[in-house]
Amino acid sequence: MIQFFDGHQHYSQKNLDEILLSLKAGGVAGGINLWGGDQIFGYHYSGDFAEFLGIIRQRGMKSFIQFYWPNWSLYFEQGQAFVQNLCAEIRRYAGLGCRGLKVWKDFGMYFFNADGTPATMDDPGLEPVWKTCAEVGWTISVHQADPSRAWIPGATFFPKTTLSREDIFRHRDKVIEAHPEITFILCHSLNNIENLGIFDQYLDAHPNVKADLSDAIDSWGTPEQVGRILEKHAPRMFIGIDMGWSEKRPIDRPWDLEFTWTPWQKRLENWKAHMSAEAFELIRWGNGQRDYIDTAK
Ligand SMILES: [Zn+2]
Repeated sequence: MIQFFDGHQHYSQKNLDEILLSLKAGGVAGGINLWGGDQIFGYHYSGDFAEFLGIIRQRGMKSFIQFYWPNWSLYFEQGQAFVQNLCAEIRRYAGLGCRGLKVWKDFGMYFFNADGTPATMDDPGLEPVWKTCAEVGWTISVHQADPSRAWIPGATFFPKTTLSREDIFRHRDKVIEAHPEITFILCHSLNNIENLGIFDQYLDAHPNVKADLSDAIDSWGTPEQVGRILEKHAPRMFIGIDMGWSEKRPIDRPWDLEFTWTPWQKRLENWKAHMSAEAFELIRWGNGQRDYIDTAK
């Protein structure tokens, strides 16, 4: 079994023992956990984040990196009070070992400003948040306008705003381009931009961007073509399991071995066969080691 660093996971303190066992069973020896606040997908994470960071530290889980996912909807109730509070949380959680922030697709797809216009990531009111992330050296994990199938009428995640994917990406890129000092990880193969050529060009044009690789990318070309692009950008790629979504796995439950890990092990074998050993090693583990494990405080 291939052991690897998973750059996109979700778990909380709830059922942590079971989750760690299931990660081990799947070959996951480290990773980036995007811990959620209340009511993400309607699931409640139990306990608070500072307490969770304490548990991670106490257990010596040095290869398991934690990112904070705030309840962004409060911005639309509290305005700058939310921003000031979030900046204080970022400083506090950074001191407790947290390494990044999560921005979700509710910006662009579901949130509205008080005047009825769609709320987007480049809202100037959020600038102090990005600046604080830069100060403490946090990565920002960004999931925007994804997946494209959400725009098919009747889709589960059908957007409430009228912005197109391209509009949302433009708003996102304003923040990314204004902050070259911040590393951004664009979830799901660069927010599922659906084309190997665009994937390649986007990374060339945005040196501060990295990607986690969801299952989408394999359908964008032959294994040889995908392998060539992954080889080229290998120092900036992470494996990205995400939810391992299945009926059997609500957000704080262990993953399902057959549903999640068997297909992923097959994908990893496939990538390994289509790139150099050095590139595969970076994607498998080396990037997580260099960016997060070696630099942990
Ligand atoms: Zn996710």
